[in-house]
Amino acid sequence: MPTFTAPSRAPVAASTLVADLHAHSNVSDGTLTPGEVVMRAHAHGVQIFALTDHDEIAGLAPATQVAQELDLRFVPGVEISVTWGGLTIHMVGLGVDPDNVALRNGLARVRAGRLKRAQCMAQGLAQIGIEGAYEGALRYAVNRDMLSRTHFARWMVDVGRCTSVREVFGRYLTPGKPGYVAHHWATLTEAVSWICGAGGTAVLAHPGRYALNTTTLRALICEFREAGGMALEVATSNHSADHIRRFTQLALEFGLEGSRGSDFHGPNESHAEVGRSPWLPDRLTPVWHRFL
Ligand code: AMP
Ligand code: MN
Ligand code: MN
Ligand code: MN
Repeated sequence: MPTFTAPSRAPVAASTLVADLHAHSNVSDGTLTPGEVVMRAHAHGVQIFALTDHDEIAGLAPATQVAQELDLRFVPGVEISVTWGGLTIHMVGLGVDPDNVALRNGLARVRAGRLKRAQCMAQGLAQIGIEGAYEGALRYAVNRDMLSRTHFARWMVDVGRCTSVREVFGRYLTPGKPGYVAHHWATLTEAVSWICGAGGTAVLAHPGRYALNTTTLRALICEFREAGGMALEVATSNHSADHIRRFTQLALEFGLEGSRGSDFHGPNESHAEVGRSPWLPDRLTPVWHRFL
């Protein structure tokens, strides 16, 4: 008699699921622990969820465990920082094997640059009279090597320099501002190959946030596709209806699947709530069909 293993879940159509495939925990620059993010996603009605911390996968083990307890479909993910054409681009990897050595080593290398960068950021801020930013930001980071601009911004809000994280970015932490330090992250090809090599699917994150003209965006998508990228994050919390129309067209044209993710970082800080974002248009194949 052939052995038969019953599927653990009944089959379900990807298009019927509430998906959130982009969110952060305090392993990178979110404020909740990995387990808390998973619990919040579940409580907000998310049916398939990916934790995608910046350049770090240490949150995947605890998140997986909580997701199992809640019987929530969980996709192990990561968001890799990439330098492309002098710009910083984010690449989400979904369904990656957290034990993959090349991925782990690649991410460790990307993170390694963050400490020096943070020190340079603090020097830039000290030059305009803001002392102690490095030590200040460190207090907000769980991992020393995952210091992010967001941690600087939280410290500056808490010491009364600005009233919101958004304001800190605008005044101090974006190109041309005193605390901004240009940085070389992974190349696009490296990031896609680490993701694919770890059995994952590469998604170009929040294309609306790069302020690229159409020609440059098409060049980016073309290169991403050629490197092995499979999906475009068409639906994310800060995309307008116009963004969604435009990126849906581009995904169809380039033969890419569509993804949806909130880019949640914490309950109070941003307008993005876990599970909330515009819906992915029906015309696109949802990337999460791969994880059912
Ligand atoms: P980093 O990887 O250290 O350069 O930090 C990038 C992170 O900063 C992003 O993932 C966002 O969470 C946050 N960020 C970038 N720009 C802004 C902004 N204008 N307002 C608030 N947060 C931002
Ligand atoms: Mn972030
Ligand atoms: Mn991002
Ligand atoms: Mn993100």
